[in-house]
Amino acid sequence: MVFLNVLVVGANGQIGKHLVSLIQSQDNMRARAMIRKSEQADYFERLGAETVVVDLEQDIDAIANAAEGIDAIVFTAGSGAHTGKDKTILIDLDGAVKTIEAAKKAGVKRFIMVSSFDTSRKAIQTAPSSFAPYVVAKHYADEWLRQTDLDYTIVHPGILTNDSGTGKITAGKVEPSEIPREDVAQVILASLRHDRTIGKAFQIVSGSTPIEAAITSI
Ligand code: NAP
Repeated sequence: MVFLNVLVVGANGQIGKHLVSLIQSQDNMRARAMIRKSEQADYFERLGAETVVVDLEQDIDAIANAAEGIDAIVFTAGSGAHTGKDKTILIDLDGAVKTIEAAKKAGVKRFIMVSSFDTSRKAIQTAPSSFAPYVVAKHYADEWLRQTDLDYTIVHPGILTNDSGTGKITAGKVEPSEIPREDVAQVILASLRHDRTIGKAFQIVSGSTPIEAAITSI
């Protein structure tokens, strides 16, 4: 398999940290952690990963510079539940779109988006009013990615938990349920390793199929 340099956007997040650690444990992958504060670098330097300090509110060029020499980008940033709707627009929507545009500018073809469970138009219409702006942001970020010629994969995880990963999932079009962040990171890793996930969007929740088997039959 070819060697992959992976830019993890949102690396200091809970999925991001699991993912950088997993990538660093692979013989044929290296992570570059995109963080927004230099104080966050220690964790990644201890793993031997590169770091780059860029805030998603900066411009496309700043993100494109962070992606120089990179083979694949994973977007796993999020404004979180404790910020206002302004940040939903600025990070979950515009931050994602700017990262996609930066990938194009830096010539990075492979792009993995950590989306939310259901970003369909129906999900927007049926979401509680407090949640709908987030679903809208994720919907249009996903749509923007689909309309590029990037080699994209869109991962739609169920409700994230901090339980230990089980290594087993159900993937595809699935009933809403939970999934540990550790398992989401494993799914992203498997997606990076298997080109059959290119051009695909799939939901994931905890299940009974080993991640590798689920991803290689997606
Ligand atoms: P998390 O722990 O909240 O991590 C989000 C990361 O985004 C943090 O590292 C944060 O940086 C970073 N970020 C926020 N604003 C930024 C900015 N302006 N510039 C650069 N980075 C910024 O999230 P998670 O639990 O790992 O989840 C990751 C993804 O899953 C999110 O996209 C979320 O929308 C999605 N998701 C969540 C659920 C759920 O049940 N919660 C379900 C499905 C999908 P700091 O560390 O500096 O704060």
